[in-house]
Amino acid sequence: MALTGLDIFKITPKTNCKDCGSPTCMAFAMKVAQGAITLDKCPHLSAEVRAKLDEATAPPMKTIKIGTGEGEFTLGGETVLYRHEKTFVSKNLFAVALSDAYSDAQNDAALADVKNVDYERIGERMCVDAIFVDYVSDGARFLELVKKAKETGKTLIINCGDAAVASGALEIAGASKPVLGGADASNFAALNELAKKYGVVLGVKGKDLNELHDTVEKLEALGNKELILDVTMASIKDAFSAAVQVRRASVKDGDRVFGYPSIVNAAKLAAGDMNMQAALASLFTLKYGSVIVMERMTYSDALPLYGLRQNIFTNPQKPMKVEPGIYPINGANENSVCALTVDFALTYFVVSGELERSGVPVNFLITDAGGYSVLTAWAAGKLSASSIAKFFQEAEIEGKIKNRTLIIPGKVAVLKGEIEDKLPGWKIIPSPPEAIHLVKFLRELNA
Ligand code: SF4
Repeated sequence: MALTGLDIFKITPKTNCKDCGSPTCMAFAMKVAQGAITLDKCPHLSAEVRAKLDEATAPPMKTIKIGTGEGEFTLGGETVLYRHEKTFVSKNLFAVALSDAYSDAQNDAALADVKNVDYERIGERMCVDAIFVDYVSDGARFLELVKKAKETGKTLIINCGDAAVASGALEIAGASKPVLGGADASNFAALNELAKKYGVVLGVKGKDLNELHDTVEKLEALGNKELILDVTMASIKDAFSAAVQVRRASVKDGDRVFGYPSIVNAAKLAAGDMNMQAALASLFTLKYGSVIVMERMTYSDALPLYGLRQNIFTNPQKPMKVEPGIYPINGANENSVCALTVDFALTYFVVSGELERSGVPVNFLITDAGGYSVLTAWAAGKLSASSIAKFFQEAEIEGKIKNRTLIIPGKVAVLKGEIEDKLPGWKIIPSPPEAIHLVKFLRELNA
């Protein structure tokens, strides 16, 4: 169980020296218990006490890294069951399945689709994160698939319970730090040796949660704590139940044996049914799949799923902001008109997209509004004539831009007069209230 502030306080030096930045040892202990600061902020804890506390205060779920370079991902490390309690920290990955049991046409089509999903949404690159290569029975074909998957540069999940075949796969792709999946009660020792040899994370499965728990305990006894739990069970119902129980056991009940990220194979749970796989991918994005495997990921599959993931794994306590400043669009220069909005990332990306679509050169001005949307910022007093004038001064807009036309968000058209008073010489034009009408509006303004 997690330690309370009082438990931690009892082992601090109790000198209230303030070296940790907290006024007292008690305040320090409370912050550590809440996860607001880490133990290393106190330089006066002995190594022995620190090791004990580290273990006791570590997040209930281990943080695991897979892949390398741009394909390196962090999984797990979650501390809450529900996003609104705090935040989820490691977004789930979407993986596409290849298998030696699939036809060449199916494998090739899945790989071709992978290339088609690559776009940006609110500053985040959206693409297929990983390729899951499943071994069923044909070792030679499987190894060819591993080679093809490796060529994509994506992170690999090599799902192979046969140690000899898995060894061949790791010869090919071990350096890119894939996950080696497929360890179970019968083969865990051999696969563990391979995972250790190549320094890769091991995926563990069981026919039920009891068997999974036992196998993880045995692997931990062998010194392996770099694990991912495969909660794909015989049915969708059992898989969902397993995913929830594993997460609850670790986060709520402090069961460290289940304190690892999970993988859910929707391609297996609903083979051939892409609509069901998309539904399962949504479900397990919410309920606790760290890696979700599907038979394919087309652009139209990706749009809702990646949007959902971005919503779920955004920290609700941190506004999504872009840096205030001048963003020239469509080759804008000092003679181009200015359009101003707030620094809320969603507003920025929606409006900048429409400005780009218009083809009109515009100096897009982003003012610091605390990361709020236009109306919220206005209501909170963070978007006003004074804040805009202050931004103009700090960003030295008048020295950088000669054009004196400023388009303001139509939703705060009421600020027009006040802004004119604060920015003499500027012509203030409210935009249409909806971003979608910006293209026509700008083209007419520029005509
Ligand atoms: S640095 Fe350590 S000893 Fe000093 S106040 Fe902080 S917790 Fe207490």
